[in-house]
Amino acid sequence: MQNLVAIVGRPNVGKSTLFNRLTQSRQAIVTETAGTTRDRQYGKVIWGGQEFSLVDTGGWVVNSDDIMEDEINKQVRIAIEEADVILFVVDVMHGLTDLDEGVAQMLRKSGKPVVVISNKSDNFELGHQSAEFYSLGLGDPFSISAINGSGTGDLLDHILTLF
Ligand code: GDP
Ligand code: MG
Repeated sequence: MQNLVAIVGRPNVGKSTLFNRLTQSRQAIVTETAGTTRDRQYGKVIWGGQEFSLVDTGGWVVNSDDIMEDEINKQVRIAIEEADVILFVVDVMHGLTDLDEGVAQMLRKSGKPVVVISNKSDNFELGHQSAEFYSLGLGDPFSISAINGSGTGDLLDHILTLF
């Protein structure tokens, strides 16, 4: 079966933007308000002569912080079960949140290969701030900008080494 990579993280960190960039599609809906894409969305990525499946998560309609946390946890559990590699997206412009810490805790316990992605690193200064995500205990964060594409080539190279 084809390798499966899952994108997880709290709403609005740029998961769908990253999904669209990596699959070079406009499949996932990206908006200013969290919760617009449907539950889960699958796509295909081709890089360096290899191919893998990518799943975007987290398009829920949420009306309270508790429900949001439940939904995130559910998606992380599914990712831990089904994915070969998990991309854990965080937002360097916003910084660390309690929801990020909760996701990190589940991922650390899972033993699955996880890549911490410091998204919205649109420039050099923001890239530097990514170091704060090292404290999540999941290794060195990858600084990328899903919007302008910087860092995504290195990220794809790295993903291929984890299969
Ligand atoms: P999701 O809820 O995690 O799927 O997040 P979305 O992909 O829907 O993006 C949420 C918001 O963040 C949108 O306004 C995006 O345009 C914005 N965004 C996503 N990636 C980047 C990025 O690399 N840089 C900046 N500045 N904004 C981004
Ligand atoms: Mg989304």
